[in-house]
Amino acid sequence: MSVRATSLAFLFGAMVLGGASAAERPDPAAPPAPAASDAPVASEVRLGGDDTQTRMIVDLSQKIDVRAFTLANPYRVVMDMPQVTFRLPPKTGEAGRGLIKAFRFGLVMQGGSRIVIDLARPARVEKAFVIEAANDQPARLVVDLAASDREAFMRAIAVEGRPLERRPEPPADTRAAGDTRPLVVIDPGHGGIDNGTRAASGEMEKTIVLEFSLMLRDKIEKTGKYRVLMTRTEDTFVPLGDRVQLARARQAALFISIHADALRRREGDAQGATVYTLSERASDARAARLAEAENRADVIAGLDLSTEEKDVADILVDLARRETKTFSMQFAQTVVGTLKNAARLYQHPLKSASFVVLKAPDVPSVLVELGYVSNKADLKSLISAEWRDHTADAIVKAVDAFLSPRLAGNGQRSGQN
Ligand SMILES: [Zn+2]
Repeated sequence: MSVRATSLAFLFGAMVLGGASAAERPDPAAPPAPAASDAPVASEVRLGGDDTQTRMIVDLSQKIDVRAFTLANPYRVVMDMPQVTFRLPPKTGEAGRGLIKAFRFGLVMQGGSRIVIDLARPARVEKAFVIEAANDQPARLVVDLAASDREAFMRAIAVEGRPLERRPEPPADTRAAGDTRPLVVIDPGHGGIDNGTRAASGEMEKTIVLEFSLMLRDKIEKTGKYRVLMTRTEDTFVPLGDRVQLARARQAALFISIHADALRRREGDAQGATVYTLSERASDARAARLAEAENRADVIAGLDLSTEEKDVADILVDLARRETKTFSMQFAQTVVGTLKNAARLYQHPLKSASFVVLKAPDVPSVLVELGYVSNKADLKSLISAEWRDHTADAIVKAVDAFLSPRLAGNGQRSGQN
């Protein structure tokens, strides 16, 4: 475990800083990436200027290396740095100033943090540097932005020559040699720099769904009949495509994405759990909006989507997709059936929309919105140990009802070895 963490820190170091010190080289004996408590701390952010010149200053407990680059569609400035602990007030970054519309910060991988600035209009990074602490002043990250236009912005991206994004390896397989039990992949939504939705009282979707997913994992493992793999087990970001890829590469029998939705105040109130499957046409406008919001995760984390591969058109893939769709629907109905007795359901609990994370053509996939963090009663449930316990039990029941017929040997997908 520590080997992997170290090599990720190394990868990240090499990617961001163009070289790594001896201390960062992968060494099987070396300790894992620094614990969050040892990481430099960002304690304050200040914005100044107007919509022609805007400056961001971040106070830091020590000097770090940063690397800034820009991304289009939408216009963003991304700053990569070694792992930083952000100790900033809850709503920091929600409102911007001048060229900065809003910004986010957080872990993008073990050992690496990132600040993503949403620009109000095209701008260039005039300067991005860190000043050493001196006298009474802490170390400071200073970013100067100047207004430009789309043409100049796109030209700058082209000449920046940004290195390819090195993605961390997927988590290790839990399968011992010869273990042929069906694999269930649990996918806690969001993470790291991507907080997901947030309750008025501050609870974040990424935390709620991770805690719930860990409980669900333990309960499924306890049956002894299935293997479980999580797309993340900590507060870090995982691109949507990697989540799907993990399930496909490991030939998962089932993929369950866990989320907790929110409505904006003007959208009224709603409560209860909803189970989603994939369809190109959303079942209704709210489902379409939700899928759009969930699909923004990669944009939020500062990924360049222009390099993503297109789906391969293949008749075999199409056939698999059709079969998978039937299984996904079947499982979704089973979940709704078992959840009915454990949790409050949304009035139309079975819906569909075009969620990127459900697009594996060969793995039955559903996305469970546990409830609305924007609803008082739902939020109370979502953070209650008892509610989580009942709800996770209900999902385990559904998993078992769906997969156990396949264990008997008359199964379709479990026979794919
Ligand atoms: Zn979500």
